[in-house]
Amino acid sequence: MVSYDEALKTILDNVAPVGSEQLPLGDAIGMVLAEPVTAPWDLPLWDNSAMDGYAVRAADCRGPSCKLRVTGYLPAGTAAEGIGVAAGCCVKIMTGAPLPQGADAVIPFEESEETSGEQVALHGTVTVGQHIRRQGEDIRAGATVLQPGTILRPAELSLLASCGMPMVTVQRRPVAAILSTGDELVEPGTPPGPAQLINSNGISLAAAVREAGSVPRMLGIARDNRPSLLTKLRGGLAADCLVTSAGVSAGDRDLVRVVLEELGVKFLFWKVAIKPGKPTAFGIFEGKPVFCLPGNPVASQITFEAFVRPALLKMQGHTALLRPTQRAVLREPLHGGSRMQVVRIVLEREGGQYYARSAGSQETGILRTSLKANAVAMIPPNRLCKAGDTIAVRLLYEPLAEV
Ligand code: AMP
Ligand code: MG
Repeated sequence: MVSYDEALKTILDNVAPVGSEQLPLGDAIGMVLAEPVTAPWDLPLWDNSAMDGYAVRAADCRGPSCKLRVTGYLPAGTAAEGIGVAAGCCVKIMTGAPLPQGADAVIPFEESEETSGEQVALHGTVTVGQHIRRQGEDIRAGATVLQPGTILRPAELSLLASCGMPMVTVQRRPVAAILSTGDELVEPGTPPGPAQLINSNGISLAAAVREAGSVPRMLGIARDNRPSLLTKLRGGLAADCLVTSAGVSAGDRDLVRVVLEELGVKFLFWKVAIKPGKPTAFGIFEGKPVFCLPGNPVASQITFEAFVRPALLKMQGHTALLRPTQRAVLREPLHGGSRMQVVRIVLEREGGQYYARSAGSQETGILRTSLKANAVAMIPPNRLCKAGDTIAVRLLYEPLAEV
């Protein structure tokens, strides 16, 4: 039996990004950039006005109230060719329009007054360069603006669009095949008969795969016999990653590992010293990871979170693979067992301090506890954490502030 740390290290040492692909910018949110990006041109492309107002020569604007003649009009989208600002004159200009020849400042409408049509009276002081966005002041042509490994947020996608790129090369999302196994299972929608149980792991694992930025491929249910498992598992091994649930303990119908070995999967561990989640196995097939998770729904969710999620993130080129931790004061004692105990936790904030308590019964059969939990604590074997102790908990959800 391997420890939690050994299991995670073995997994991460054996997975790598699955490769890159080109995607339209609109499909690339949250993905990891695979190539450096160089700016093809200056940004801004040319000097332009940052305000609606008048393009002027600053030297003409002396005194508390001076008057200039309006000789032109430049809305955004109009080229400034042939439009200049002569001495004693100004050009009406809108935000984003190119700066006309001769102008070296913009006076916003709010600081000016248009009188008798062509004359504009200005008040206040005018400095050279005011309210002008200079060509290249943001980004210079030829500069490397994004490095590989960058996570694409709206800001990065905006920059790529401004660089004239309709497509971007990103690390591909891995396809994770999901197989539920068990003679007792029926799909959601089919009323369970006597001794039957609904395949809830299929849906929860698919959702977790999606939440981890990957693409689930549903293989449905394999029965606890060799021919059924062979057919389904063979199909699953074609994906970038295979995740099975159940049939991996010591029962006489637990054939998943045996059949996978027959198909050529090399197992690197079976059984991890955590609770819940002991009957977890990890193997490699043609360089691709194979995860066999326990059938119990709580255990399959916890082991997915602990082992599969970090692997899927690494396969997408992420380097930060674990959810953030938070130090919190325990409201009640937590007991470690003989294995590392994954305790589902309610984390609360009160007066700038975080507090942690158990989310309810930690029995593996109790799904209700998972509904309440927003964090987990990993309690080492045989450790007793007392009320008032400060422990680190791992956040399962990003806490958002209320309005
Ligand atoms: P096993 O590992 O096959 O012994 O399964 C452990 C427990 O998990 C049993 O009570 C199964 O009925 C249950 N179980 C197995 N697969 C699923 C599934 N896909 N959805 C919900 N429960 C399951
Ligand atoms: Mg079973």
